[in-house]
Amino acid sequence: MKTIGLIGGMSWESTSLYYKTINEYIKNKLGGLYSAKCILYSVNFEEISRLQKSGDWEKCGEILGDIAKKLETAGADYIVICTNTMHKVVPEMKKYINIPVIHIAEAAYGRIAPKGIKNIGLLGTKYTMQQDFYKSILIDKGLNVIIPDEEDIEFINNVIFNELCCGEINPKSKQKFIEIVEKLKKKGAEGVILGCTEIVMLISQKDIDIPVFDTTAIHAETAAQMSIE
Ligand code: GLU
Repeated sequence: MKTIGLIGGMSWESTSLYYKTINEYIKNKLGGLYSAKCILYSVNFEEISRLQKSGDWEKCGEILGDIAKKLETAGADYIVICTNTMHKVVPEMKKYINIPVIHIAEAAYGRIAPKGIKNIGLLGTKYTMQQDFYKSILIDKGLNVIIPDEEDIEFINNVIFNELCCGEINPKSKQKFIEIVEKLKKKGAEGVILGCTEIVMLISQKDIDIPVFDTTAIHAETAAQMSIE
């Protein structure tokens, strides 16, 4: 069994879902007392989110690169960053390590492609929805990525950082998220990526009538599957 190197804590609320999903996957596949071999380095998210806000992505890349190196030294066979947003610094991080990074957007695409979906809605932090580092991976693979309007992007971003990352589940925010997905549908979305690892705490497939791609589960399952291949 391979050892998974997890970079978590962004936020710890969603990292705990990764840990659970990875172990459940192994248990379901192998049974008995089988569980995942993994090493988790969990950051202080206050520090990271301040760097995000100030736009210091270079420093973010250095911090995550350094952590990835530590995980490699500790025996990790590959790296899983438990957040969509921080995939922005993957190119910088890769300079620090000789092991692969399992990219969350590529893992998501792996589930979208077999469904024949071409127009995909994307929910995430404002960094993920507005900047190119994430969308470009999907666009390069032939998808048309549809994001919410300016006002909704601001709303979603606030809910992520001020509610979900703090463990707060607000029914009004849930309703608004469902309405935002409806708007994406009207713009042509045939499915929607929950492109932030906390969004599944608020909405999931049972709330939405188009296919939902939960990146937390997809990424964690991909990592678990690789460990026993
Ligand atoms: N967990 C979130 C994501 O998947 C947001 C936290 C962050 O900015 O890393 O993007």
